[in-house]
Formats: sequence, C-alpha cells, structure tokens
Amino acid sequence: MSDLFITRIDVFQVNLPYSGGVYRLSGGREYREFDATFVRITTQTGLEGWGESTPFGTTFVAAHAQGVRAGIAEIAPKLIGLDPRRVDRINEAMDQALLGHEHAKTAIDIACWDVFGKSVGMPVCELLGGRTDVKLPIISSIYVGEPDEMRMRVAEHRGKGYIGHSVKIAGEPVVDAARIIASLADRQPGEFFLVDANCGLTVETALRMLRLIPEGLGLDFVLEAPCATWRESVSLRRRTNIPIHFDELIMNESNVIQAIADDAVEGIGMKISKSGGLTKCRRQRDMCIAAGYTLSVQDTVGSDIAFAAIVHMGQTVPERYLRCILEPRDMVTVKTADGPFEVVEGRVAAPSLPGLGITPRMDVLGQPIASYY
Ligand SMILES: [Mg+2]
Repeated sequence: MSDLFITRIDVFQVNLPYSGGVYRLSGGREYREFDATFVRITTQTGLEGWGESTPFGTTFVAAHAQGVRAGIAEIAPKLIGLDPRRVDRINEAMDQALLGHEHAKTAIDIACWDVFGKSVGMPVCELLGGRTDVKLPIISSIYVGEPDEMRMRVAEHRGKGYIGHSVKIAGEPVVDAARIIASLADRQPGEFFLVDANCGLTVETALRMLRLIPEGLGLDFVLEAPCATWRESVSLRRRTNIPIHFDELIMNESNVIQAIADDAVEGIGMKISKSGGLTKCRRQRDMCIAAGYTLSVQDTVGSDIAFAAIVHMGQTVPERYLRCILEPRDMVTVKTADGPFEVVEGRVAAPSLPGLGITPRMDVLGQPIASYY
C-alpha cells in the first residue's frame, strides 16, 4: 500500500453561460452555454485535488457533458485506494475501466496532478517537465459573423491585450475570404492569426476560398481544422502552401503518430479535455516537439480550473514550439476558482503555488451531485 491514496471522489456540475451571447461555428452550430463537470479527489491525509472537464456542447467533437459524468461513474469506484501521484498508473486504471471517452477521464487526471503537486509542494508545471521562462501569449476566439463585425471583435480583443486571434469561418468560400481579409486587416506587429474552419470546408471550398484571397495582401495565417476527414485534410495539405494545423482530428496519441507519419500538418491544437487530461497531453506534447510541430495549448472551453491546467501545460512548451494558449475564462460568465493567473499585456505565467495553484469557489460549485468512496 502506498503512503498516499484516494479515499473519495466528488463530482460537481455548473452551467457556464457564453459571455458573448451566441457562439457560432461552421455548419450552423450555435452555443449559448457550456455544461461543466468538476472533480474533487480527497486522499486519506486530507489533501484535495481539483479538475474540470467542459466539452464544447455536443457537436464539436465526440464528447458531451452527460457522458463526462456517466464515464466518471464507471471509473471513479475503481480508483479508490490508488496513489494519485502515479499518474500513468491512474490512467491505465481509467482505461481499463472505460475504453475511450477521454473527456470523462480529464477532470480526474487533472485532480491527480493537483494532489501530486500539493503532496510535494511544487507547481504542476514543474512536475510536467519544468517551467520555461516564457510568458504565455493568449489567443482570442472570434466566432463566425459578418466580416466587418468580426473585424470589430478582433479589435476589441486586441484592445484587451490579446496577441493571437482564432478567427472562425463557416464553409462559404466568398464570405469566408472576406471574413479572413477583414479580420486580418488591422494586424499589428507581433500578432498571429489562426483561421479555424472547425472541419467546415471541403477540399473544393477550401481551395476556392484560398484563391479568393489576393496574394498581394500578404496575409499571414495558419489554416486550422479545414476539413472533417483525414483524407480531405491531407489532400488539401498536398495542394496548398498554407500551413495547416489539426484540432478536432487530433483526439489521442495515435492521431499524433498518424499526423507525423503522413506529414499531415505543421502543428496541432492540443485540447486537454478532449485528450483525457494532462498525462496524455504530456505524451502528445513530447511527440509534437520531437516532430517539430507548433502547439496551441487549449481546452474545448471551461472556467478557471480548466485554464489552470492549460497554463501549467503551456508553461512547459519551449517558446519555439508554442503558438499560444486559449483563455477560456473570457468566454464564460461564471468564475469557479481563484488564483494568481492574471493576464498582463496578453500574457500569463503559471503560479509558483503547489499543485494547480487554484482555490475553488465552493459557493459557485455547490454540493456534490455524486460521490464515490
Ligand atoms: Mg480549433
């Protein structure tokens, strides 16, 4: 028996309204609110660790909030008595209890890292490999709208200090080209842009859209998640010189291996909840760095606890490979935890507190909706 073991796992649920009203993605998808699940792990010594898993609705990737909680119900009873610091062993136990459904494992995995850090008095980023001295640049999330209105929202985020912008497009070549031209029109030195189709393009519409952007404009951007399938995306990659990142098509380590084998991308959008937590993202990170990929460290969405996990992972990626991190706290109206994660001039650094460095707001999280012990 280990000298530290899990005695209890509690589950909490909070709705996170979208701060911008209605968020629109390609394919007519709309989002108004996100259903967040939080996990508290308690050890026999009274240490507590926290984690969050908040899918982006039910239509972004194959993940949804009720599935998170149904998955936890399968997994949690099998983890009682295990040492939360043995994160790879915890993940093996989770994989044995439930095949796939990585989003259901995320909050538990993050909570284990939080406990691990607290048990040794070190921040999670140090345990993930050690902090860089990079101040992490945050990226905005500009939903699909009219070109001029998107230009305005980019400007608003620029005004708030955002250095990067993820501009969403809809799969309509003429309007998408106009959206890109408008959103990049006021680009400032040092800014970067991801143009994110969220799998909404076909090879044909992607090629038509790209041809409608005059080369003379010299617009500097990366095209993210152009197509829904691997075949289309790789076909497009062979026929254009636009750098391409995958996001929705990278759900696990096998996908990263396939991307490298197929020379399919220049980088990936790593999202902690879709990948199953920090342990599995750590492996993806290392494979990506070995491949020379650019990494955007993100989550599907989420609140303060998800952001803490993003920051600690982002803090371990060398500057050369780090594109940005997502700031999801701006996307929701609810604050679920406190901690020194202040964004200054569009950048943030991981705190030096043990674990994630967050203090959950129990008045917001309320009572557990399920407990396992
Ligand atoms: Mg994306």
